[in-house]
Amino acid sequence: MAYPRKPRILIIYTGGTIGMIENPVTRSLQPFDFSHLIENVPKIRMLDYSIDNIQFNPPIDSSDMNLDGWKEIVENIERNYSSYDGFVVLHGTDTMAYTASAISFMLGGLDKPVIITGSQLPIGEVRTDGEENLITALQIAAALAPDGKPMVREVAILFENYLWRGNRSTKMSADNFNAFKSNNYPPLAKIGLGIHFSEEALSRPLFVGADTPSLHVQTEMDPAVMFLDLNPGMTRSTLSHMLHTPGIKGIVMRTFGAGNGPTASWFLDEISDAIARGVVIVNVTQCVNGGVHTKRYVSGDRLVKIGVISGHDMTSEAAITKLMYLFGKGCTPGQVREAFSTSLCGEVTL
Ligand code: ASP
Repeated sequence: MAYPRKPRILIIYTGGTIGMIENPVTRSLQPFDFSHLIENVPKIRMLDYSIDNIQFNPPIDSSDMNLDGWKEIVENIERNYSSYDGFVVLHGTDTMAYTASAISFMLGGLDKPVIITGSQLPIGEVRTDGEENLITALQIAAALAPDGKPMVREVAILFENYLWRGNRSTKMSADNFNAFKSNNYPPLAKIGLGIHFSEEALSRPLFVGADTPSLHVQTEMDPAVMFLDLNPGMTRSTLSHMLHTPGIKGIVMRTFGAGNGPTASWFLDEISDAIARGVVIVNVTQCVNGGVHTKRYVSGDRLVKIGVISGHDMTSEAAITKLMYLFGKGCTPGQVREAFSTSLCGEVTL
């Protein structure tokens, strides 16, 4: 189905390789402004959409993305929500999966497409992937389902041949054009000669008690969280030092295999002491594919017994931003634990 009028799309340009140019002195790529980017994609006019843009000032390399940047993105979407049919966020690839996860939690009640894309090569380069990614992202943001509602009603990452759920995605390659993947969730669409949506995979939120869902944005995210990566050489003092990080509220512990960790008593004692101090510890696997099945081994089961929460098949990016979101909301450790046993916006298979 097509819009009976020109689709209205807002592009939010945050920076990233897609809009970068080479610094003539250092030869390194640095972010550049939106007019440069759009001049390099004259084909956009062929889409016959009504497109406006907002740009970060200055545009950034996504390694500089932070909580203020996420707030700026969601506030721009909130302010313009009723005026546009869809949103395209141009973003560097390095932290794209974190941003996609974070804003999926922050944009409560989202019922319109928020398509994040970028590129591996700058838009001004002959072999750029940026032109195709930008055009496809715009087409996806303007796509309608047979019922006349937007085809995509969630935060998604479009990259090369696939559309992925944002909070299920991970950057898989620093070199390939197909740089992203959802290792535990099927693609929302495959892009070849046409754009083939998978309606079973796409989120179709049910808004109980209201025909038209209303967007409710949370801009507060709590940064008092961190990753703890297990490795076989970890010592008690390193672990203890990390668990005593001043002010820390939540930890995503990246464990071995199906959610396993050492069974040594010093390890379990340090972890249970941290939990007793009120620190929330979520277990996600270091494996790129699959999830936490703590009952399978004693080494995983011990973690459950001392109060470590299962992150199931969540990505690290989704787990850490979910913690930031829940603590930002003011949740107690008990409420955070409860929220991890539910899917807030399709981030986990339960
Ligand atoms: N460093 C860049 C960024 O994340 C990489 C990219 O965009 O692909 O902003």
